[in-house]
Amino acid sequence: MRMRKLGSSGLFVSELCFGAMTFGGTDGIWGQVGQLGQEDADALVKAAFDAGINLFDTANIYANGRSEAILGQSLRNLGIAREDFVVATKVASAMGPGPNRRGASRGHILSEARASLERLGVDHIDLYQIHAFDPATPIEETLEALDTLVRAGDVRYVGLSNWAAWQIMKAIGIARARQLAPIASLQAYYTLVGRDIEREIVPMLLSEGVGLMVWSPLAGGYLTGKYSGGGTGDGGRQTALDFPPIDRVRGEPLIAVLRAVAEKHGSRPAQIAIAWLLRQAVVSTVIIGAKRVEQLVENVQSTEIALDDDDMAELDAVSRL
Ligand code: NDP
Repeated sequence: MRMRKLGSSGLFVSELCFGAMTFGGTDGIWGQVGQLGQEDADALVKAAFDAGINLFDTANIYANGRSEAILGQSLRNLGIAREDFVVATKVASAMGPGPNRRGASRGHILSEARASLERLGVDHIDLYQIHAFDPATPIEETLEALDTLVRAGDVRYVGLSNWAAWQIMKAIGIARARQLAPIASLQAYYTLVGRDIEREIVPMLLSEGVGLMVWSPLAGGYLTGKYSGGGTGDGGRQTALDFPPIDRVRGEPLIAVLRAVAEKHGSRPAQIAIAWLLRQAVVSTVIIGAKRVEQLVENVQSTEIALDDDDMAELDAVSRL
């Protein structure tokens, strides 16, 4: 597993990141995604670490904190040194009723960071991300709160997730002008069936040295090809998660090309979809969401696939904006 810099920060992260959104879910969207308990989580986290993955992503909202608790326990169960893994979590989603239990205000960020540290069972969070833009809070207030956490040693690096290009650019400018902790990364959805971020966000991230952490790289499983042509999956969900919505009209010809390129490399469509992302200069890491060790192993093998220029041109022709 190769390491990449998280944007222009000094932090090295594995080019694949393990996403723990499937840990501890019980209902609503989390029920659809999965409900992995401690034992399954331990096996996945161990397999990920053994494969060379050092970066683990979760969020306070995933299963209402249970994902953080399970991930923290799995990492402890592995018995590895704190310096050898990078833990990323997020804040901003509603953690309870009332306007002060959500968003990116100073109060909510500071109390949720403490709660995340406790649930994870770590003395610092390596990467603390604002899960979504909060229109009710001035960006200055959000960045000052993050800076407080960095100066206190509770957080090492700061990131954003699902912000628009102008919002990110504004935050970068404010952080620089006020000498606050810089924005190291952005989490965004980016796949061969969802290339919208190439319009504004990708060039901006490249220009500003912010690392892209790609989420849902298989479009919730769709790019495995198992749901195309009326397929009903392989014992996981019956349909792709469809979050964000998948354009199936564009998707079907793309799946055909993915299959053809995969055949050429003796691999699987999912591996080609991830290998394509790894060819993008803006990508610091691709957050994979495997639910079973076999899926994880398959996805990890994508790091060994070298797509050539012909492959890239074919994939581009069928998926470009
Ligand atoms: P993917 O798009 O990779 O979908 C993962 C799902 O696809 C799995 O749960 C599994 O579902 C299926 N799958 C994965 N690998 C294979 C395989 N090799 N063969 C067959 N099926 C496979 O990623 P996720 O949507 O799960 O997101 C990954 C991570 O990204 C999350 O854990 C989270 O950390 C992060 N994320 C961040 C968001 C944000 O707003 N910042 C939003 C969403 C995710 P099944 O077996 O049921 O088919």
